[in-house]
Amino acid sequence: MGLTRAEAVAADAADPLRSLRERFLLPEGIIYLDGNSLGPLPRAAPPRQQEVIAEQWGKSLIRSWNEHGWIDAPQRLGARIAPLIGARPHEVIVTDSTSVNLFKLLVAAARLSDRPALLSEAGNFHTDLHIASGVADLMGLRLDIAPRQEVESRIGADTNLLLLTHVHYKTSERFDMAGVTRRARAAGALTVWDLSHSVGAVPLHLNETGAELAVGCGYKYLNGSPGAPAFLYVAEHLQEQLVSPLRGWMGHAAPFDFTDDYRPARGIDRFLAGTPPILGLAALEAGIGAFEGVSMERLWTKSIALFDVFYGLVEARCPELDCISPRGPDQRGSHISFRHPHAFEICQALIEDGVIGDFRAPDVIRFGLTPLYLGFEEIWEAVDRMSRILDGGRWREPRFAVRSKVT
Ligand SMILES: *Cc1c(COP(=O)(O)O)cnc(C)c1O
Repeated sequence: MGLTRAEAVAADAADPLRSLRERFLLPEGIIYLDGNSLGPLPRAAPPRQQEVIAEQWGKSLIRSWNEHGWIDAPQRLGARIAPLIGARPHEVIVTDSTSVNLFKLLVAAARLSDRPALLSEAGNFHTDLHIASGVADLMGLRLDIAPRQEVESRIGADTNLLLLTHVHYKTSERFDMAGVTRRARAAGALTVWDLSHSVGAVPLHLNETGAELAVGCGYKYLNGSPGAPAFLYVAEHLQEQLVSPLRGWMGHAAPFDFTDDYRPARGIDRFLAGTPPILGLAALEAGIGAFEGVSMERLWTKSIALFDVFYGLVEARCPELDCISPRGPDQRGSHISFRHPHAFEICQALIEDGVIGDFRAPDVIRFGLTPLYLGFEEIWEAVDRMSRILDGGRWREPRFAVRSKVT
């Protein structure tokens, strides 16, 4: 029958990470299981943004670029993300969006080799495949899209680049980063990892696993605000070999020399393009700050427990839901997904009942398990409400089938 409510309450009382929830402003009465899609509001974000707006922009005006370190924000925030992904501070920079960063790294890396194929996974997050197809067109590469189980065996002498999302956005399946990177390297290919569903969710060790190139999202598990800037990672030994195809002035060796010729900055800075969005960076800084003083390992331990409780309760009480996420912690990320032919309607009914998860077409309902602010009683309550919706068939009410622009 899964955990009882009393046991869930006891698990919360015994949870050493329970107080971290105070770092967020969560609306009363909502159980938020969508932090993997848009992280909630960190308590530190409004005062931080207010300070940047009123004190810095308002009073110091343009002098803030120097006086308040605006100009160094992309590097400063990159250095704070670095420990979350097992990288060195000068290997990470915050800039642009995940899609744009993918474009920059794919083009820059593809130029290192004359091999013809760019390899990725069928069913990868669509922006990754769209960007890859644009890069393939531009560079005259062949885009190979292989089913997940065949990706590794398709790495060959013609593979220029491999583009993989570490944790799958829909199923939560996780690639073995060290193993795949090694295999690709042995075949002479570089790998670009998309960490959008991994950063702030699972412990990452980019340096240790030999990962060379990666991008990641700021507004999911990092709680950086809607559309927050993203980040990219380039291993130190590759930095001087790569040149960004978006040659903006902020990536120039001397932007304020105003010269006509392009000379890339040294190191990771060359991947900047235009002027950094200071308000978005301020919110992201607050989001990253919510991880202060707590290791990803401890968060991951709690994530595993939340997953097991969720899985056990659904198995006992919602047997019509088919779990498509791996059970083994080493094989997955920090979200759990289920298949049901009416996943959309069930998701809408749940939202009406104060439980926010999300729907991924065509038939998946997905729940983000975010240990920074979620408790065991909330998980119990969410599954309880879901089982009532399923048992009573309330999701069949026609209003739950109405689709908005964003699903
Ligand atoms: C969320 C996500 C993105 C987001 O890209 P944007 O450029 O921020 O829209 C990209 N890739 C993956 C795998 C994602 O999960």
